[in-house]
Amino acid sequence: MAVERTLSIIKPDATRRNLTGAVNARLEAAGLRIVAQRRIRLTRAQAEGFYAVHRARPFFDGLCAFMTSGPVVVQVLEGENAVARNREVMGATDPAKAAPGTIRKDFAESIEANSAHGSDSADNAAVEIAYFFSGLDIVG
Ligand code: ATP
Ligand code: MG
Repeated sequence: MAVERTLSIIKPDATRRNLTGAVNARLEAAGLRIVAQRRIRLTRAQAEGFYAVHRARPFFDGLCAFMTSGPVVVQVLEGENAVARNREVMGATDPAKAAPGTIRKDFAESIEANSAHGSDSADNAAVEIAYFFSGLDIVG
């Protein structure tokens, strides 16, 4: 296994309920190091650009509305196998299907308001990290 980086977003449902620290504690307990982090309010254009791959999906408009409904925390996580490990800690997209002890099982409100985003491949992680951070922002 190699040390990887992945892009994580703490979504508006979680920041609204003051769960940033609780989510970060789960990430750190799983061996993921937060090597960059910023709290921002996404514009509609920024949300649409980030989720462009989902543009044709029926949930796209609702997803972009949700992601701009409040602050998000964008972060770069670093660790062994970070992409897969973060996906494990987050749990399944639908909290009703997420395993016990995962972020989405314990914190998510719905399949849309599911508290966290994590890149789904190393290639996408590189693209998503570059969407929000420059190399100088990341301190490993
Ligand atoms: P993410 O990309 O946010 O880490 P994911 O990879 O588990 O989540 P995707 O299939 O990439 O899931 O969907 C992106 C996001 O779109 C989901 O996290 C969720 O917020 C929303 N979403 C996915 N499916 C649905 C759906 N059926 N109804 C409403 N929202 C959905
Ligand atoms: Mg995804």
